[in-house]
Amino acid sequence: MGGEGGELTGRLSEPLRRRNIFILTGAGISAESGLGTFRDSKGEGIWARFDPMKLATPEAFARDPEAVLAFYDLRRRNLISASPNAAHFALARLEAGLLARGGRLTLVTQNIDDLHERAGSRRVIHMHGELLKARCDACETVRPQLGDLAVSHACGTCGRTGALRPHVVWFGEMPMRMDEIERALREADLLVAIGTSGAVYPAAGFVAGARARGIRACEINLEAADNADLFDEQRLGAASETVPAWVEEILSE
Ligand code: NAD
Repeated sequence: MGGEGGELTGRLSEPLRRRNIFILTGAGISAESGLGTFRDSKGEGIWARFDPMKLATPEAFARDPEAVLAFYDLRRRNLISASPNAAHFALARLEAGLLARGGRLTLVTQNIDDLHERAGSRRVIHMHGELLKARCDACETVRPQLGDLAVSHACGTCGRTGALRPHVVWFGEMPMRMDEIERALREADLLVAIGTSGAVYPAAGFVAGARARGIRACEINLEAADNADLFDEQRLGAASETVPAWVEEILSE
């Protein structure tokens, strides 16, 4: 009985192997939508004009809130005029396709843009927060924020001025929804990292955790990430081409 059961499980597990997929995306997936990455080899865009290490910290906000808010205002305006690209759309197709087959996709993004949602992804975990939301430091209320933010703006809930900030995770702050992410990682049978340099923790550590549990890992990136040697498989190229091609392979299995 045990032997038969083992054989049966072995045969069935092959086609089911990739039904619970964990995807981590980074700035690279939104690069072709014109949002730019931290590591922009062309030296163009807002990252060439601003040093995120000097602006994306709680200390910077305490010291010079106007400069920090202006930096995020610019990023928000860029985001509102940007559109999702073929890679975002492919991941939305993957989510729907896996669900229809009884599988599951967990999409965790380090990006603060909403391009996954605009492409049709239903369940997105923003571990570094969301640019199109503001949070009150005094009462913790989170609200949609499409326009610019100013120090003089009052919180719509508690009425305090000077306490509204972008609902994003700054350097030195805790990423969001880590319990949910850890649980999804434990349940996944394939991890895929897309457009991320593997330089920012804890996200960069997900692949080591997955490998320690025997989960396969694939990297899809323009250039090999800092932690590239931890992946079983690598596909290098622009996300708008590599991601749709990979998704079609998975969905045709
Ligand atoms: P990163 O800038 O450190 O690395 C970007 C990665 O994307 C690199 O590995 C690069 O080779 C790759 N890449 C560039 N163009 C690509 C393309 N067309 N196709 C595929 N890959 C491409 O970004 P990161 O790893 O996400 O991490 C750093 C931090 O950057 C995160 O905390 C994130 O919040 C922040 N960030 C977010 C946005 C956004 O929300 N759109 C933009 C810039 C930075």
